[in-house]
Amino acid sequence: MPHPLQHHPKGAPGSPKAIKNGCTCPVVDNGHGKGYYVAEDGVPVYVVLTLCKIHGESALPLSEADLAKANPLPNRVSDNAKESDS
Ligand SMILES: [Zn+2]
Repeated sequence: MPHPLQHHPKGAPGSPKAIKNGCTCPVVDNGHGKGYYVAEDGVPVYVVLTLCKIHGESALPLSEADLAKANPLPNRVSDNAKESDS
């Protein structure tokens, strides 16, 4: 499961976008939004302050709509639309 913070609609922790939205997480530690480090599965790990109003404990859980907005899925291509062999 991808880390939702990476695609947070108000910005990843420490990113300029998140700071504008009131994020108080570490900036440099989070690589300005890139993450503290990247885990083996390629998902960035962030340093998050529990008091951050966007990413902390008091933050509301992300709704599926928010996640869809932040990380829109491409339209599915049906199996019938595969390219022909010609
Ligand atoms: Zn934050």
